[in-house]
Amino acid sequence: MSEITFKDRVAIVTGAGTGLGRSHALGLAARGAKVVVNDLGVGRDGVGASSEAADAVVAEIKAAGGEAMSHGCDVSDEAGVKDMVAQAMDAWGRVDIAVNNAGILRDKTFAKMEMSDFRKVVDVHLIGSANVAHACWPIMREQKYGRIVFTSSASGIYGNFGQANYGAAKAAMLGLMNVLHIEGARDNIRVNTLAPTAATRMTEELLPPEAAELLAPELITPGLLYLVSEDAPSKVILGAGAGSFAQTRVYETEGITLLDSDNTPEAVAAQFADVSDNQTQEELADAFSQTKKYALNAAKARGLKLGW
Ligand code: NAD
Repeated sequence: MSEITFKDRVAIVTGAGTGLGRSHALGLAARGAKVVVNDLGVGRDGVGASSEAADAVVAEIKAAGGEAMSHGCDVSDEAGVKDMVAQAMDAWGRVDIAVNNAGILRDKTFAKMEMSDFRKVVDVHLIGSANVAHACWPIMREQKYGRIVFTSSASGIYGNFGQANYGAAKAAMLGLMNVLHIEGARDNIRVNTLAPTAATRMTEELLPPEAAELLAPELITPGLLYLVSEDAPSKVILGAGAGSFAQTRVYETEGITLLDSDNTPEAVAAQFADVSDNQTQEELADAFSQTKKYALNAAKARGLKLGW
């Protein structure tokens, strides 16, 4: 196994002043990357602003002999993100890696949630991640090299009480990854998603101290470093926490085909066990694979031949 290095690579890590982002930025810098340490310096709910935390991480990287600069833009502000990417280009002439990590929480049950809190969380996680990827995209295409990671969450993948805004925004990371994976492939841009679970200020009230001790953010960073490395996979959802690494996948069952007078809600109900049969499930490569599968099923049932 060859050593993973980021020598001559330029990385942007958002929300890198604290928690997971800080750990990722330090990990990238320790292996040779020049790092833009982005952080707006807000509270857990996205309120406030300070450059202190990002500056401290830059100082830490420099003290260890690495190269870094801070940038305090709000990732949900497109102009600020463009300025950050322009500054990275001015200083170092390329952007190879974008780690979308910045995040906030505004937890409430859906019944009590204001739509302004829904929108704010979507703005930071989804629009913020899209802003960064979009500003880096033409550079990565031109370089024929790019590694992008989005940060999702088990809350988005599996659901979590009180996090309709956060869960929706985090599930959106998968949609963004799926499409950018396809569009980036020809230019050697690989796109993955990290689903971490760690003891940070975001989770401090949820974790008993003995569990928190096991869930250090630093244990997740090796997985992130693999996802942005030269030989990175693409379209992977990597769960990570407490030293565990696991892959989440989306599957579709083989399903059933109901035509003509059989195409009724009662028939769907009666055959729902077959619809759900996980023995036949498989991963589909893209959206059109589903269209093709269904049209081919119908054609087969009708004894027709399609050109596919
Ligand atoms: P954290 O609160 O310690 O760090 C988040 C950082 O993002 C903060 O430094 C904050 O100032 C910065 N930030 C927030 N809004 C920003 C904005 N608009 N622009 C720029 N920076 C901004 O949280 P963390 O636990 O390290 O979380 C990092 C990421 O991992 C988040 O996306 C979070 O949703 C995700 N995540 C964390 C966990 C966990 O268990 N900690 C679980 C699942 C997902």
